[in-house]
Amino acid sequence: MEKLLVSFNDFKKTNKLVVENKFFPFEYDKEIIKSANLSFSFEANKYDDVVNVTGKITGTMSFECSRCLKLFEQEIKIHFECSFTKEEFECDIMEEMRETVLLNIPMKPLCNKDCKGLCPVCGNNKNEKDCFCEQKIKDEFVAEKWSKIKKLKI
Ligand SMILES: [Zn+2]
Ligand SMILES: [Zn+2]
Repeated sequence: MEKLLVSFNDFKKTNKLVVENKFFPFEYDKEIIKSANLSFSFEANKYDDVVNVTGKITGTMSFECSRCLKLFEQEIKIHFECSFTKEEFECDIMEEMRETVLLNIPMKPLCNKDCKGLCPVCGNNKNEKDCFCEQKIKDEFVAEKWSKIKKLKI
């Protein structure tokens, strides 16, 4: 992944560095994230021996719902902050942003917190229509249990 280094060398003539609306070349694990279109902005301020960076990452990302497997898009608005000292000298802002995004996205994405998922029997998406497979299995189980009990009595 490409780096974006901010170092004390950037503050020879100024105490403030502003970067606005740049494309964020975010690299990700395709298992969880299906697409990402992100930009970032930040401001770096130097105070004597320390540089404070504050910024935001915005855009959209798409995920596959972990319950119903449907692709869905989500707005992203993540704030990030980091700082480094004169001894550390520099900081890779790309890496800081990558870690922040990864910490802020769900490990098990859901298209909707109430997503009903797929039927384990017929594979139907239960958000779109109801099927009664699970109820049927439950009914059959109960019926079978009763028939055994009846047999015992005889
Ligand atoms: Zn879902
Ligand atoms: Zn079903």
